[in-house]
Amino acid sequence: MADGADRGRAAGALGGRVPAQAPERAMWCDERFDFQATFLQCLAKHVPNIYSAEMDPLVEKQEEMVQAAILYPLECYLFGEDPDVFLEKLQQSGTSQLCGKVFKGGETTYSCRDCAVDPTCVLCIDCFQNSIHKNHRYKMHSSNGGGFCDCGDTEAWKAGPLCTKHEPGASSSPKENSECQLNEEIMEHSRRVFPSVIKYIVDMLIWEEEKELPVELTISREKADSYYCVLFNDEHHSYDHVIYSLQRALGCELGEAQLHTTAIDKEGRRAVKAGHYAACQEAKEEIKRHSENVSQRPLHVEVLHADVMAHQKFALRLGSWLNKLMSYSSDFRQIFCQICLKEEAGSEKPCFISKLMLWDARLHKGARKVLHELIFSSFFMEMEYKKLFAVEFVKYYKALQKEYISDDHDRVFSVTALSVQMFTVPTLARHLIEEQNVITTITETLLEVLPEYLDKNDKFNFQGYSQDKLSRVYAVIYDLRYVLVSKPTVWTDRLRERFLEGFVSFLRILTCMQGMEEIKRQIGQHIEVDPDWDAAIAIQMQLKNILLMFQEWCACDEELLLRSYRECHKAVMRCSSNGRSREKTVFHLCGHTLESRPYRVSADPVSIHLPLSRTLAGLHVRLSKTGAISRLHEFVSPEEFQVELLVEYPLRCLVLVAQVAAEMWRRNGLSLISQVLPTCSVVFYYQDVKCREEMYDKDIIMLQIGASLMDPNQFLLLVLQRYELADAFKKIKPTKDQDLIKQYNVLIEEMLQILIYVVGERYVPGISNVTKEDVVMREIIHLLCIEPMAHSAITKSLPENENNETGLESVIDKVATFKKPGVSGHGVYELKDECLKEFNMFFYHYSKTQHSKAEHTQKKRRKQENRDEALPPPPPPDFNPAFSNVVRILNCDVMMHILRTLLQRAVELETHLWTEAMIQMVLHLLSLGLLEEKQQLQKSPEEEVTFDFYHKATRMGSSALNAVNVLMLLEKLKRVPQLEAQKDTVNWILQMFDMVKRLREKSSLATVGAASGSEATKGDETQSTQDKEKAERKRKAEAARLHRQKIMAQMSALQRNFIETHKLLYENTLEAQGKDDAIMEEESISSAIDCSRIALGPKRGPSVTEKEVLTCILCQEEQEVKLESAAMVLSACVQKSTALTQNRSRILELSGDTLDPLFMHPDLPCGTHTGSCGHVMHAACWQKYFEAMQLNFRQRLHVEQIFDLENGEYLCPLCKSLCNTVIPIVPLQAQKINSEDAEAVAQILSLARWLEIVTARISGYSVKSAKGEKPNLPPFTNEGTGNSALEFHSILSFGVQSSAKYSSSIKEMLILFATTIYRVGLKVAPNESDSRIPMMTWSTCAFTIQCIENLLETEGKPLFGSLQNRQHSGLKALAQFAAAQRTTSPQVLIQKHLIRLLGVLLPNFKGEDTPSLLEVDMFHILVGAVLSFPSLYWEDAVDLQPSSVSSAYNHLYLFHLTTLAHIMQIVISAATESPTAHSSDTSEEAQSAQSFCREVCQYTSGCFSQDIPGWLVWDCVKKGIMPYLRCAALFFHYLLGVSPPEELLQVSEEGQFKALCSYLSLPTNLFLLFHDYRDTVNPLLQRWCADPVVLSCLKGKSIAIRYPRKRNHLIELPEDYSCLLNQASQFRCPRSSDDEQKHPVLCLFCGAILCSQNTCCQELVNGEELGACTSHALQCGAGVCIFLKIRECKVVLIEGKTRGCLYPAPYLDKYGETDPGLKRGNPLHLCQERYRKLHLLWQQHCIIEEIARSQETNQVFFGFNWQLL
Ligand SMILES: [Zn+2]
Ligand SMILES: [Zn+2]
Ligand SMILES: [Zn+2]
Ligand SMILES: [Zn+2]
Ligand SMILES: [Zn+2]
Ligand SMILES: [Zn+2]
Ligand SMILES: [Zn+2]
Repeated sequence: MADGADRGRAAGALGGRVPAQAPERAMWCDERFDFQATFLQCLAKHVPNIYSAEMDPLVEKQEEMVQAAILYPLECYLFGEDPDVFLEKLQQSGTSQLCGKVFKGGETTYSCRDCAVDPTCVLCIDCFQNSIHKNHRYKMHSSNGGGFCDCGDTEAWKAGPLCTKHEPGASSSPKENSECQLNEEIMEHSRRVFPSVIKYIVDMLIWEEEKELPVELTISREKADSYYCVLFNDEHHSYDHVIYSLQRALGCELGEAQLHTTAIDKEGRRAVKAGHYAACQEAKEEIKRHSENVSQRPLHVEVLHADVMAHQKFALRLGSWLNKLMSYSSDFRQIFCQICLKEEAGSEKPCFISKLMLWDARLHKGARKVLHELIFSSFFMEMEYKKLFAVEFVKYYKALQKEYISDDHDRVFSVTALSVQMFTVPTLARHLIEEQNVITTITETLLEVLPEYLDKNDKFNFQGYSQDKLSRVYAVIYDLRYVLVSKPTVWTDRLRERFLEGFVSFLRILTCMQGMEEIKRQIGQHIEVDPDWDAAIAIQMQLKNILLMFQEWCACDEELLLRSYRECHKAVMRCSSNGRSREKTVFHLCGHTLESRPYRVSADPVSIHLPLSRTLAGLHVRLSKTGAISRLHEFVSPEEFQVELLVEYPLRCLVLVAQVAAEMWRRNGLSLISQVLPTCSVVFYYQDVKCREEMYDKDIIMLQIGASLMDPNQFLLLVLQRYELADAFKKIKPTKDQDLIKQYNVLIEEMLQILIYVVGERYVPGISNVTKEDVVMREIIHLLCIEPMAHSAITKSLPENENNETGLESVIDKVATFKKPGVSGHGVYELKDECLKEFNMFFYHYSKTQHSKAEHTQKKRRKQENRDEALPPPPPPDFNPAFSNVVRILNCDVMMHILRTLLQRAVELETHLWTEAMIQMVLHLLSLGLLEEKQQLQKSPEEEVTFDFYHKATRMGSSALNAVNVLMLLEKLKRVPQLEAQKDTVNWILQMFDMVKRLREKSSLATVGAASGSEATKGDETQSTQDKEKAERKRKAEAARLHRQKIMAQMSALQRNFIETHKLLYENTLEAQGKDDAIMEEESISSAIDCSRIALGPKRGPSVTEKEVLTCILCQEEQEVKLESAAMVLSACVQKSTALTQNRSRILELSGDTLDPLFMHPDLPCGTHTGSCGHVMHAACWQKYFEAMQLNFRQRLHVEQIFDLENGEYLCPLCKSLCNTVIPIVPLQAQKINSEDAEAVAQILSLARWLEIVTARISGYSVKSAKGEKPNLPPFTNEGTGNSALEFHSILSFGVQSSAKYSSSIKEMLILFATTIYRVGLKVAPNESDSRIPMMTWSTCAFTIQCIENLLETEGKPLFGSLQNRQHSGLKALAQFAAAQRTTSPQVLIQKHLIRLLGVLLPNFKGEDTPSLLEVDMFHILVGAVLSFPSLYWEDAVDLQPSSVSSAYNHLYLFHLTTLAHIMQIVISAATESPTAHSSDTSEEAQSAQSFCREVCQYTSGCFSQDIPGWLVWDCVKKGIMPYLRCAALFFHYLLGVSPPEELLQVSEEGQFKALCSYLSLPTNLFLLFHDYRDTVNPLLQRWCADPVVLSCLKGKSIAIRYPRKRNHLIELPEDYSCLLNQASQFRCPRSSDDEQKHPVLCLFCGAILCSQNTCCQELVNGEELGACTSHALQCGAGVCIFLKIRECKVVLIEGKTRGCLYPAPYLDKYGETDPGLKRGNPLHLCQERYRKLHLLWQQHCIIEEIARSQETNQVFFGFNWQLL
């Protein structure tokens, strides 16, 4: 559809408008005129003008003109007054009770599992949030588009059909208000207006002339030769193909072609060229030519006259105008519907609406959208007219479906998709069945569209089918499902007849499927082409629930059931008639004979598709269930019944499965070999949960029907013959062919298994007296016997009914307990112990692997409980009377013969002729027989029990073959060594024999009181068994204990040895396994107790160092870390980070070319973080490793790299985390202060003195530089330092020592690492000599410490002693590196940086670029100054460094100065705070604070308010300074190695402050610092206060950062996921206004919602197109970010432009599972622990690591273009 129409609708057709010209309006108002003619005249005049510029329309202008010239006058006429006034009145009159909101693709819909009549009943998010279902078991789903909200439809909901918004009482005026109805005049007008409007729309939409208009629209003026070449959308041609064709055909630019293509996809058609007819015609041919190829039809192109195009466009505009009008009043809707449905009297022509429906497939996409929306807003909002519409729909159903099947658009754009809206409404469905015979209509449609797939036998054959076409046929099948979804409760005669008619028609389809796609076993050569079996399987899946529903409908009514049974039986018989030509043969065994026609599955064709037989089986169990089976003979005579024939085909199917298992079909290609690719096999689907109910299960039932109706011996002979095993039980063939023997053995196993199922599987309502619930329960028990399972896994393994329900929830709690998940993984259900007794090893839905897994699990469990390992079958429920004869196959002669033969073979040790599995099955059958006899004996007197299994099994025969009875064979079996594992089972059976024998004897001895007698026997039995069991258990337990002891002893010896020899390796591995256990710091363990725990100043404690011997993870060699040895390195990852930022709106510079990183802004907008996985290597080993990897990757060019070798990335060789550099490990230089020296120095070196010396030293340097010796030093103001007494060299007089000498390898690594920090941190090209390298070194050191401090605080861990191993060693190495790095740079450069840093701190130093106090982070200054300070000791070419004593003072004074500055920062930002509470704190600190404030007030000339109470200032300072003090303590600890006070190893608020002050040599009353240094500090204080930035902040003109800084968290997420979905539904793309599906994505750092994966929001960054997420991440997380895809409920981690991965969202359903893609749709709730884990992932800077790990394990996402996310 055209843009104009869309916009118009959005803006409101009746909203603000331009008044029409007066004459125009007058014309409309004339009562006498002919409306139709005037209307058309008006259109003829205006429409071509308005829509003249089709190629490049001015959409808004067009809309304005349409409003003014046509719509406004039209409305004035219609309403009889000004439309705005009319509307005002109308809107007070209440709203409709139906919501009717039409869903767009991707919108979330909600369904209630408790109240929805079927799963197609859905609510929109608004209605849902306001409905009672919000608290029910709801489901969320993503709409495909096209449906609408069912709020208000009483037939859709069992309860709560209305939300509070649509409830009658909700609107201001009552529903029956007369205002709601339109007055007669308006009705009259609309009866006059609507027909003309509708006729115009219909005429124009179905207009086929390309050159001419209808005469009434043709104006006499000259017709211009103005045409358009119009291209139409289809679903066959790809986007790229269309672009290519357009570029070629029209010679246009890529951009233009793209523009056209996007518009075509959206609107359905577009003019791509304007011009004369000939030119357009030529373009048309060109486009067709270029778009055609071997596999594809050409694109649909038409040449249309400009006027035709214009009128068609306006017709759509009128359509949306009507659509809007429909929402105003029910009267409008009714009048509209009446006109649409009106048929011309005496004409066969369809009414308007049918005309449009029939034309639907020929309309373009945009037109269809308008049409469908109009139907929704009119017909579907009025129940009565919906019914009439449905009648029309069904009337043309066949034609419509045929059109759809050959259509080239998706189903959402087809009018046939509306069927679900009508067919699922129960009353409507019933009406359509009764009146329109809809079931027959649908089945006949199917029969008419399917013939192209029929072969010569009138069976379907889908070889070489077209997937697209066939999937369109499925839509018809789905309609059948919709009609049947709600079973009628009341049956009329008419309904019964119509249904039966439909059923018979449906049987005709099944007849075409019965026996379709026959296959024949391939012998010799492999089959060439693998047949397509998936189409047939897909149809089977589609049909499954329909078959079940038909059976359910049939069973509603006894008469109906019997009649449909007769019809179905007839159909089966008709299909079974072939193959009768062969002569019958006779088969003898144990004195029984079977006459049958020869057939062999291994040689004759066989089909797996038997829907007729299976439907009959389904009807049969329903007959049995309802008892109607007693009347069956009235409908099907016994002669007709022919049970052998009914059994025949299902039996063949089961034999096929057996033969496939025996590998007899392997030459038929992959599809049948279930062993190779089980999911690709027909046989797999035959038994899979998606199909089995209407395939495998029904075949077993059919066999049970056979067993119940046939003579048992005959039945078994038939089975033996079909399994081609007749000979196997006759005599032993002396064959040597191992393959053949193996084949026989598998076939025997398979047959025994089926016999077990026939006798034992009774959990089907109708076969025994069980309920559906019992059945589900049993399924679940058997699933959980394999292992505990997640809710979703159980759901997937259970068949779904027509409402997509499995019935799981109603029973799961009876059989299982739920175990909650941890931080990862999912919740699982565990079977309750009392249900274990229900376990049946030969459960018929177990696959082979499930069977053996379950057996293993259960045996293991019994062993652990010290019980015997027998797993006998649980007693099965009794058969219903109709099936009671089935058990006779257990004790018939042939069965006895089979059992005896197999046992005999085992006993005689003919090893190749039997298998353990076979014997297991024999034992199972014996158990079933004995159980059956026992149960019968317990129920009725002995003489009435004719089931004589015991007797038969103990009877001795006369022939040689059965000379030994079963009981004797069992005794012998116990001694067979290969059957050791079955011993317990054999014992159990022998006990059963005993029990049955006693039951027989007892009851025959004393028939009176049989019941109690048997009770007693049972008691005795249990008693003796228990005793035996007890003794056995004791013995076994003892043996097990001894065994365990022995093993334990061996193990621990081994372990000791191992640890001994691999001591370090062992520790490393522990780390590598990610053991996060915090280690105690080695230092604190070894430190002496009396050591001073002060890090700074004269009382400095000693460095605690230990000899450090590390093992290289690559060569496993140990080496001590020394200054002079070859370097050892720690793998590390450097990354930019915004984890601490206080201001996310700050724009980050993407490239650091011009950045000066010396000063960090207090917002900490972006820092450089260095992390490590803590793994140590020799530098040389690492280099070799890295080079080898480079080589490796260069050779394998096609392999996409996970990591960027160019940028130094690699995976840690041990733990595989992503690294991009290494940190050299520099040993700590132990320092100890001689306390006497220190005391002596303390006498002289006051802060003032120290400052003077430093100043002198620096000015000395600048004097030198003035002489031109060193031109590098920056100019600085040197105010009043003129103490010439102090000399340039006096700094050296307090002690110096020579600088550390590093080995060349360490130096090399220092440079390498420093360069990486510089390159990554600034995003620049590496440059070893850049002057900013030292700055970046200090900066990453400071920033990393701040990150770790932040992390420890948020995790509530103590400052020291709780770091992970990797963090600890990383930080240690980083601090030592940062100190050593200085030696690899020119000292003059370091001095230059130092002087700039000191400019902030020293009273008499202020450079031009010295930032204001409020613009720097003090901790960064501290770290920089401390690390660069030794450069002042550099003396010409002699590299000296301060002695320990000198350092102690330097550190102390530098720290005190930064602390003073920081206090000042805090006080200034606190000044703008107003006290929230009152306190009478008059402590010393508060008083000091008060006096300090007074001073500050002076210096700021009153800007600093004096009214702030001292206690408040003190409070702010104490709280605000904490993070800084904690960082400083970490820094000095890792730099100097001085042990921290004990208090810092614990978490304690108060103790911590004191301990920090003591460790850092600070008075606890921090304001004393100002007091003590009064004279020195005052000038500084004055300078800080006079700073314009400070003053502006104090005046409240700007805002300073508050301390402590806020700790960043991921944004708060709502507890209920649907809140997020709600947000997403309201999301509008900021860049485009179309209503296309969007992918809203939530940034978890800042909460921004972005429009991802869409061209509209792509951003051009450095010449590259980046998606909204990628470009947002660059700013928000310096390239690294965490997003939540809201519609899919998936978390996405991304890094840079090329990397990303999915991560489980922190939302779980109540079963503890995530739901990526909202596939299951269960309600989801936020899991705080998981969200916290995600938060830590961010704060620990492990996102990159996680991405790399996930990409390594899950390579699927390589194809994804992260750049465009
Ligand atoms: Zn709604
Ligand atoms: Zn509602
Ligand atoms: Zn509900
Ligand atoms: Zn090594
Ligand atoms: Zn590692
Ligand atoms: Zn963000
Ligand atoms: Zn967008």
